[in-house]
Amino acid sequence: MYPKAGNNKIYDLVILGGGPAGLTAAIYGGRANLSTLVLEQMVTGGEIATTDQLENYPGFPQGISGAEFGQLLEQQAVRFGAEITSASIEEVDAEGDVKRVSTSRGDFYSRTLIIATGTSPRLLGVPGEEKYRGRGISFCATCDGFFFRGKKVAVVGGGDSAVKEALYLTRFAREVILIHRRDELRAVSALQKQILGHPQVKFLWDTVVTEFKGNQNLTTLIVKNVKDSTSAELSVDGVFLYVGRIPNTSFLKGVETDPQGYIITSEEMETPVPGLFAAGDVRRKFLRQAITAAADGAVAAMMAVRYLE
Ligand code: NAP
Repeated sequence: MYPKAGNNKIYDLVILGGGPAGLTAAIYGGRANLSTLVLEQMVTGGEIATTDQLENYPGFPQGISGAEFGQLLEQQAVRFGAEITSASIEEVDAEGDVKRVSTSRGDFYSRTLIIATGTSPRLLGVPGEEKYRGRGISFCATCDGFFFRGKKVAVVGGGDSAVKEALYLTRFAREVILIHRRDELRAVSALQKQILGHPQVKFLWDTVVTEFKGNQNLTTLIVKNVKDSTSAELSVDGVFLYVGRIPNTSFLKGVETDPQGYIITSEEMETPVPGLFAAGDVRRKFLRQAITAAADGAVAAMMAVRYLE
């Protein structure tokens, strides 16, 4: 038996995740007069809210801070009638006409669902990583960079995130050491141009971190050169890990994903489950950016409208 609307409300659209994909879906859902609820675990804006500057979103020629961008999306979604609730998602039952989302705040019911839960940082899985998480190991330069004013920090990874955040950290840290497992960066050339030759940045190429050590706080990285297998100790005050991301789909059962766990959808954001859509970084796609997330969110919401009709 499903709960009756009004008692335990059945929404037209529940959106899991309040990043650019989820909040854009909420804007479109609200404007289409759907009763719309966004469930967000952390802060609205999602991953982008922890980015210092968003430089490539059309319409902001001078860039915009990630936090401000997130707030603007939220205001716009609320203006069109969307509700936003903070809750962490535990389980989703998307079969049937009314779908159930079990969360830390109880169960929510909806006729359509959009999964826009994005991704989380990938871990290295080496000794000391859990122990020193928040005690010298960080995943957010924008949040924690300030604490390393005048200090020596390392950044692990060679992609856009690692390079962008390493550059951001040069505002605070006296020295930034970028540790990459190959001898060539993966980041786009515009970012490479900024970091290669930067006076505050040193590079440890062909190198991986094999252990995090310290006392109460992290003090030392054990690093290994993958070419000659030699290991060395590197003293640091902090380290920022940017070694890629993993999709947030652990609460979802019976939905097709690719081998990395990204949800497979049609070009219209449909999953094989009627009334269940996915949008943004959690979806298998070519380009994971705020602009493509927003576009996915718009399409998913309009597909929800069509499904309800
Ligand atoms: P990413 O592109 O997947 O890069 C991950 C980096 O970590 C790679 O350099 C990879 O090395 C390295 N790595 C992976 N596993 C590792 C391990 N176990 N040990 C050591 N190193 C490891 O991830 P991302 O930089 O987070 O970017 C994710 C997506 O967001 C990308 O599509 C990116 O373009 C986008 N993004 C865009 C911007 C922007 O400003 N436009 C900013 C941030 C992110 P290899 O290179 O050897 O594989």
